[in-house]
Amino acid sequence: MARPQRKAERPTSRRAVRYIYAFGGGRKDGRADMKDLLGGKGANLAEMSRLGLPVPPGFTISTEVCTYYYAHERTYPPALRQQVGQALARVEQVVGRRFGDPANPLLVSVRSGARASMPGMMDTILNLGLNDRTVDGLIAQSANPRFAYDSYRRFVQMYGDVVLGLKPEGKHEEDPFEVALEEKKRSRGVTQDTQLDAVALRELVDEFKALVKMRRGVVFPEDPEEQLWGAIGAVFGSWMNARAITYRSIYRIPESWGTAVNVQAMVFGNLGDDCATGVAFTRDVATGEPGLTGEYLPNAQGEDVVAGIRTPLQITRAGARAWAERQGMPEEERRTTRPSLEERMSSVYRELLRHAGQLERHYRDVQDIEFTIERDRLWMLQTRVAKRTGIAAVRIAHDLARTKLVDRKTALLRVEPEQLQQWLHPGFAAKATHPLLARGLGASPGAAAGEVVFSAEAAIEAAAAGRRVVLVRVETSPEDIGGMKAAEGFLTARGGMTSHAAIVARQMGKPCVAGCAALEIDYPSQQMTVTRADGQRVVIGAGMALSIDGGSGAVYQGEVPLGPAPAGRPEFTRFMSWADEARRLRVRANADRPEEARLARSLGAEGIGLCRTEHMFFEGDRIDTVREMLLADDLEGRERALARLLPMQRSDFIGILREMRGLPVTIRLLDPPLHEFLPHGNQEIAALAAKLGTSAARLRAKRDALHEANPMLGHRGCRLGITYPEIYRMQVRAIIEAACTLARERVKVLPEIMIPLVGAAAELRILREDTERVARAVMEAAGTKISFTVGTMIEVPRAAVTAGEVAAVAQFFSFGTNDLTQMALGLSRDDAGRFLPEYVRRGIYAEDPFVVLDRSGVGELMRQAVSSGRRARRDLKIGICGEHGGEPQSVRFCHELGLDYVSCSPYRVPVARLAAAQAALGG
Ligand code: PEP
Ligand code: MG
Repeated sequence: MARPQRKAERPTSRRAVRYIYAFGGGRKDGRADMKDLLGGKGANLAEMSRLGLPVPPGFTISTEVCTYYYAHERTYPPALRQQVGQALARVEQVVGRRFGDPANPLLVSVRSGARASMPGMMDTILNLGLNDRTVDGLIAQSANPRFAYDSYRRFVQMYGDVVLGLKPEGKHEEDPFEVALEEKKRSRGVTQDTQLDAVALRELVDEFKALVKMRRGVVFPEDPEEQLWGAIGAVFGSWMNARAITYRSIYRIPESWGTAVNVQAMVFGNLGDDCATGVAFTRDVATGEPGLTGEYLPNAQGEDVVAGIRTPLQITRAGARAWAERQGMPEEERRTTRPSLEERMSSVYRELLRHAGQLERHYRDVQDIEFTIERDRLWMLQTRVAKRTGIAAVRIAHDLARTKLVDRKTALLRVEPEQLQQWLHPGFAAKATHPLLARGLGASPGAAAGEVVFSAEAAIEAAAAGRRVVLVRVETSPEDIGGMKAAEGFLTARGGMTSHAAIVARQMGKPCVAGCAALEIDYPSQQMTVTRADGQRVVIGAGMALSIDGGSGAVYQGEVPLGPAPAGRPEFTRFMSWADEARRLRVRANADRPEEARLARSLGAEGIGLCRTEHMFFEGDRIDTVREMLLADDLEGRERALARLLPMQRSDFIGILREMRGLPVTIRLLDPPLHEFLPHGNQEIAALAAKLGTSAARLRAKRDALHEANPMLGHRGCRLGITYPEIYRMQVRAIIEAACTLARERVKVLPEIMIPLVGAAAELRILREDTERVARAVMEAAGTKISFTVGTMIEVPRAAVTAGEVAAVAQFFSFGTNDLTQMALGLSRDDAGRFLPEYVRRGIYAEDPFVVLDRSGVGELMRQAVSSGRRARRDLKIGICGEHGGEPQSVRFCHELGLDYVSCSPYRVPVARLAAAQAALGG
């Protein structure tokens, strides 16, 4: 990237370096593509001038000056003063007013403008150039003393705050100017600023200046030159203020970029009723619908629109009508009290419409425009690419591509894959105004509302009675699965993005807020105490209404109404089909049930990359049979229970393979440690003992025997397959029998049997042989032949490092990056949430490695495994099925590694499709 100091550090050349770029009034020194030098605002002002739009004249002091300023102990390049003088003289000439002229003063605004937008980093200074003499000139120009003194007092306040440092530091301190203003209103017996007359405002100016003297020991500068340099210095100084430094570190904006300063002739939207100011968007940035939208305020200055003191009016008539309808205001009343700009100033409106259209065509993207109308004359103050919702992003990209304003590649690169989520889930119908209780991790998007339940059983019971519930748990475990199915969404006090609740939620497509530390859940009393951000403690009992936003992680008290999911509209389908044409990676889904498989297919999945069979073990009553198997003391007993499980598993596989006919389905044999299938609490144990006709003591003994200190590294995955081969044999039999049944019905099935947690090729060799033996026997008995493959997950670092040996036995690899991350980084998936956020905050890891794949660690293991795996077996199919398979940056990495597919939870399939397209397009 070109660093701005290049020129500034060059030894003085014969021709002076140019630090100033003029715009407006016929000058156009800069261009839109000069953002590095002029900042975003300055470059776009120059570009608008180039297009012949009405821009108040001014000039930009380049970012090179900022760099120089910091490289030279906060001083300016010697040539700057003269260049500023010349540029200002030109502005004076264009406007026909002079800076500091008591009879006819030029007033300017001074604003920062970095390359990347940094909203709120630096306050704007308006009306600069006013003093006790020039204010009379402003009175003469405006014929409005009140306006002149109001402008003056605003200027002294802004200058005092920003340049002279009177702005309060903490939020508990008061702004001394605001205190004086309030006092003035009180003494005049008025409540609104607008009710203060010219005399009162004039007094305020003096009082403000006295405050400056008292607080800072300096006299407020009367000299406009001094004011200007003070403001310029404050803008450059603001580049290093704490707010800006924090902002830059969050958004990774290099310090070396520096900011530019824009000095521009003031235009006034507050001179009377033929004046206005507003913000317009060239399309609706919420829905993406074509047509100008936006708001304006008659007789106001720009900051008033943003400040939210007055309710702005709509720019278009259609917008105003829609607004009135929402408010329940009759059209008659609307037309007189809330006229649109279109109705109120129709010719200015038409001009704005023309300029907006021109800007959108020119920039080939939706613009966010600031404008001011001074005495019926339109001035364009700013244009920039508009921020938009995910819904609007797709609609706009689609529409612009269809009208050939952009090509499909550009359209695809314009949408953040994550933004697609907004198409897939119902959200809150309106902006939530309910009390915010707390925030956790937004672990699975979408909104849910319902009554609080604290157990899976209560969720099932309430749902059966037709009530909608939000399941609240400290954390969830596989035995909660039934309740999770019944609930609208989940809220947990503990756990991160790969916690059980988060994974299940994403797979089911339900909203989940995880790791919400503000909750103290007390199961016995069936209530939780929530500590709100303001320290207030709120008690929420079972049955009370709660709403969660699994996107933002927000938890609200009460029931916020929901709106429908918009996917299914033709623009979405068409946009996604463009993504499919562009990508190389295939996209599969992680799904365990036929209905999830159907959903995944409808969202574009091209197969199943991970079917976790243990989730099937919890369906309905079969968990009891599973438990019987665990309790059996010998092989015979286990086999008896497994024989009862066999038909159930077979029908599961028939369901899922049928749903995915023609597409590959990777079925993983049992993975979790056995203790997860047993109840833990004494009460639950007693209930189970009664049900199974055994003693609680025996159950407790079994529970204790299966207990592991570190179950994630314990007796799980293929280690179960090695030690209890009958379990895997039953599962393989069920898979192959299901496949044979379907094959006889001429349903095309492509099962892929996957062995989890392999660390050594030898483990896989034993299990593959066993698998093939069982499969052969089943096929012989059925008289049907089906083709299937046997492969492995790569989730133990040793398997990655010895991938060549493993590939000699495996027909495919699937990276289980949840476990691979856990083991490579030595971070427990269950407990890392306690300290990992601090690691990320302090930059030890740039991102949560369970969310965004850790390229340099885990990624290197993957790279090694891909290359030695493919060397050993040329046609080795390689995918990923950890949660990273649906995360855009990780998908890009998988593309770069040359993987064949990514697999993710159904609702992330469209995200992965777009991310894969963007990776292929090199965006
Ligand atoms: C993994 O480890 O990445 C994986 C997909 O398996 P699980 O999350 O079920 O351990
Ligand atoms: Mg795993």
